[in-house]
Amino acid sequence: MDRLNTLLDHNRAFVESREYEQYKTDKFPGKGLAVLACMDARLVELLPKAMGLKNGDAKLIKNAGALITHPWGSVMRSLIVAVYELRADEICVVAHRDCGMRAIDPKHILDHAVERGIPEETIATLRNAGIDLDNWLKGFDNVSDSVRHSVQTIRNHPLMPKDIPVHGLVIHPSTGRLEVIINGYGEESHTAA
Ligand SMILES: [Zn+2]
Repeated sequence: MDRLNTLLDHNRAFVESREYEQYKTDKFPGKGLAVLACMDARLVELLPKAMGLKNGDAKLIKNAGALITHPWGSVMRSLIVAVYELRADEICVVAHRDCGMRAIDPKHILDHAVERGIPEETIATLRNAGIDLDNWLKGFDNVSDSVRHSVQTIRNHPLMPKDIPVHGLVIHPSTGRLEVIINGYGEESHTAA
């Protein structure tokens, strides 16, 4: 059976057995939190468990690297909506050790794209159109610096209210241990890079 049908079979059983009842909640985060985290597969269950979050506790936004690449992109918009419309009143940026976005090489990604059938001319056309592919695809060199940068982008956003604490954390992808990089209540923690 293919993946979609495996998933749909599971889904039918899940709904029929009313397994969903244990997850019933509403759209407002019970703990008032919005969390921006990495999409790493190791964090699917580990991150909420390690942070003591259950269904309904937080707005969870995920992408590669827990990055905010643009102040007017969809991540920042999600945080703004979470704060103004969904009663989030505290934000955590949670990156992690051993992240795939650390020291990622845009050239490798584009080489793989060509291997998978994307014409070299397409890449050249995008570059000629002024799309900075290398900058767009690059991750970060240092996870702590990346978290600081994301926290600053949120704090300094002209539409983000100043009374929202924004914390910067790094989670260990095996143990779930959290390191505080920025304490959003006002203290900076000097942990290793
Ligand atoms: Zn990651």
